[in-house]
Amino acid sequence: MRRFNFIRDPGPGSGGSNVESFLRGLDGPACLFLSGQDSGRTRALVTLLHGNEPSGAMALHRWLQSGQHPAVNVVCIVASVAAALAAPLFSHRMLPRARDLNRCFRPPFDDAQGALAEEILEILRLHHPEAVVDLHNTSGSGPAFGVCTHMDRQHDALVSLFTRRLIVSNLGLGALMDISEDACPTVTVEVGGRLDEQAHELAYEGLCRYFLAPQVLDQGATEWGLEVLRDPIRLELNDNVTLTYADQPSPNYDITLKTDIEHHNFGTVSPGTLLGWARGTERGLFSALDAGGRCAVTRLVRIDNGELYPARPLKLFMITNNAAIAESDCLFYAVADDGSAICS
Ligand SMILES: [Zn+2]
Repeated sequence: MRRFNFIRDPGPGSGGSNVESFLRGLDGPACLFLSGQDSGRTRALVTLLHGNEPSGAMALHRWLQSGQHPAVNVVCIVASVAAALAAPLFSHRMLPRARDLNRCFRPPFDDAQGALAEEILEILRLHHPEAVVDLHNTSGSGPAFGVCTHMDRQHDALVSLFTRRLIVSNLGLGALMDISEDACPTVTVEVGGRLDEQAHELAYEGLCRYFLAPQVLDQGATEWGLEVLRDPIRLELNDNVTLTYADQPSPNYDITLKTDIEHHNFGTVSPGTLLGWARGTERGLFSALDAGGRCAVTRLVRIDNGELYPARPLKLFMITNNAAIAESDCLFYAVADDGSAICS
C-alpha cells in the first residue's frame, strides 16, 4: 500500500504562505524530491517523525519559499503530517493510540505506523543517499545536540552542520538512526525546544548548510571538537507509578519532580541536588538499564527520607517536565559528569 505522496521540485509559491498551509498541501506523509546542481548524488532529510516537533517542517517550508537550489539532489521525507495537523497544530507527537513512529524502524511492520516506517526505509533504499539527517525538537526547552549510534568522522561531520554536542547511543529502540551504516551515515539532530524560535532558526541554518555544501562528509582529518556524551542511560518509570511536577511533595502521587528540573538539562548535578520527592524504593519506582543490560537504577538516583537525589555526580539531558512523556518514554537520560558512560 502506497501512503506517501511524491512531489518533485515544488515551486517557491507551491507551499502557501505558512507552514500549516504547506502541510495541508502535502495531504498526508510526503516525499519531496529536490533536484540538485549535481544530479549524480543525493542526500536525505527526514523530519516530522514526531508531529509536535515543527522546526524541521518550518525550515523546509522556508527553504522552498526561498527558491534556492541544493548542491546535490535532496529527498525530503515529511512523515507525521496528519498528527501535526490534528488540532491544535503541532500538539500531537503521534495520533491517539498510534505507536511512536521513531520506535518503528525495525520489524514487525504490521500496524499503520510500522508500514509508514517501512516505506520510509524503502524510499531511502531506493534513493541511496550519501547521508541522512533526521530533524527533531526536544519537548522541553534546551540546547541543540546530535545523536548517532556509533562514533565515526562522518557522523561528527554531519552533526557539526548543526551543533557541537554529540550523544553516542545505541539503545536499539527502533529509531531511524539505528539503520546507520558506513554506506549511509545517519544522524538525528535535536535542534532545541519545540516552541523555541532559536530552534526554528538553527533548523533552517543547518538545513541550508546541509543542502548547499558541496561536501558534507569528512574529506580528511578534520578535528570537529565536539562535546561527546557516551552511552546515556534512560531513567524510566515502572508500570503504574504515578508522577507529577510541583514545588513540594504531592500526596496523591508516588513521585513529585521539581518543576524546574529541566533547568539541569546538560548541566551537572551533584549527589546533593534535590530532584524531587518519592515514596517507595528506587527499584520499586524506576527502571534503568546500562549498555550491558544490567539494572542501573541505584547508580542514577537515591531516595533519602522521601527526597530524591542523584546517586552520584551526573550530567542529565532530555529532561522532560511533561508527565505523559515521562510515562510513555523516560524522565531523563544520564551520563557521568565528564560525559563518559556510567560504570558500575
Ligand atoms: Zn522527536
